[in-house]
Amino acid sequence: MKRQIDWIPVLVQCRDSVQRQIAPLIGTLKQQQPDLGIGAGGDPIRQVDLAAEKAIVNTLESFGISFTLISEESGIEEYGGRPCECYVTTDPIDGTTNLLRGIPFSATSIAISTKQTLNTVFAALVADLNHEVVYTAQKGKGAFLNGKRITSSKLTTIDEAVIGLDLNTYRIQKIARQVTSLIENTKHIRPFGANALELCYVADGRTDAFVDLRGKLRTTDIAAAWLMLKEAGARMVLPSGKTLNAKLSPKQHVSFIAAGNPQIQEIILDLIRTKKEAK
Ligand SMILES: [Mg+2]
Repeated sequence: MKRQIDWIPVLVQCRDSVQRQIAPLIGTLKQQQPDLGIGAGGDPIRQVDLAAEKAIVNTLESFGISFTLISEESGIEEYGGRPCECYVTTDPIDGTTNLLRGIPFSATSIAISTKQTLNTVFAALVADLNHEVVYTAQKGKGAFLNGKRITSSKLTTIDEAVIGLDLNTYRIQKIARQVTSLIENTKHIRPFGANALELCYVADGRTDAFVDLRGKLRTTDIAAAWLMLKEAGARMVLPSGKTLNAKLSPKQHVSFIAAGNPQIQEIILDLIRTKKEAK
């Protein structure tokens, strides 16, 4: 029988360890980085990413947990002596470019699931690495910011909405057509550069939605934030409007709309569809 693990304190300890491990590396980030090859997710591996991943693995092992790691850096690996108790999906550092450049918007993201699918995530943490901001969630128990329950935005008017939009892609000509109406209809578009944290901003109502149609983001990037959104009353759907579920893998890419409430989600979906049909 599987033992019960009190996950939130374990995840918070992972975050504490990540912060301790990356602290000495932050001052060295402007120096030349060693060539560590390409990570499982397809991006170059940086020393700081590996240090953060190691911190998470070591912390979980210190609790005696046997797990399958699904990481943007190492790919999929087994840890621990017993059969797998759970899947641990992580983007050890979300927003590495921000971190390297001293832009204070980066996070660590960890999701625990029973299977290798997004909809089985049952515990999650996304922690801002620059501020004392720790988002946690457990299935059926709500989402929290520093221990205080959060709920998503109730705003239903698009012009006043604050919407995160990731346009960071070489395929911009294709994506731009799809999002032109959305940009034209709202005053506040915000790309911050660390998607897991940006999705948590939708969960706690700092922003009203986050849109990513690039098909570039991996499920390792969004697994923890997915539970945060769900537990805060927000929604995350495919651009077709259908429920998002996907395999947890650094090679599994997704496009999606995350929205604070159904009304704002429908408005965004309509704006995206209209433009698609007009072209
Ligand atoms: Mg990363």
